[in-house]
Amino acid sequence: MGEVIGRCEGFVRAGVSVTGKCDRVARLRAVAEEILVCSLCGLHKGRTRAVPGEGPSEARIMLVGEAPGREEDFQGRPFVGRSGKVLGGILQDVGLRREEIFITSVVKCRPPRNRMPRREEYETCIRAHLRRQIQVVEPSVVCLLGGVAARALLGHDRITQVRGQVLRKDGVLFFPTFHPAAAGRSRIWRRALSEDMSTLRELVRTAVHLRGYDT
Ligand code: SF4
Repeated sequence: MGEVIGRCEGFVRAGVSVTGKCDRVARLRAVAEEILVCSLCGLHKGRTRAVPGEGPSEARIMLVGEAPGREEDFQGRPFVGRSGKVLGGILQDVGLRREEIFITSVVKCRPPRNRMPRREEYETCIRAHLRRQIQVVEPSVVCLLGGVAARALLGHDRITQVRGQVLRKDGVLFFPTFHPAAAGRSRIWRRALSEDMSTLRELVRTAVHLRGYDT
């Protein structure tokens, strides 16, 4: 996990009672440790490393992608391959810092040959891990990157129909948009993703006023 977790390590190891931020850090780390040894679905068989995600325990934005790719599987970190470069460039363009965002995906292990994760795989992984990560971090907005994430968390099959909207489900505000891989293939989608990230930045600045629309 990210460096913030490391700062509370001493407290956790010493058995000192932890509250607030350190409690979040300890709970996030517990989820990450479970993910690293998880075998709840078949995807664990082909992974090099599971990719729990990374970022501050009190991030106001959580980005949720589809699944680790080859480079993510190799490094054990999210969005460090080609899509990560596109994402990083867009975040920088709109004035968001990656270090302030918690980044993860709907499944934490790389699917074989980068195929799309199957329904039973992402449902298992979300129930076991992502739901808990959202509960711990309590981000103002969960930004869903791409159609698989939107389908997995919101049940919407067409990302184009919900992209750029704020949707509330089970008390969580979601903001679906395109996947950076799509933005890397088309200038039009890159521009659209940039626009959505600008909107996301403004949404988070005014998060107390957010209401969203029930799905
Ligand atoms: S994808 Fe998720 S549920 Fe499946 S083995 Fe990996 S961590 Fe466990």
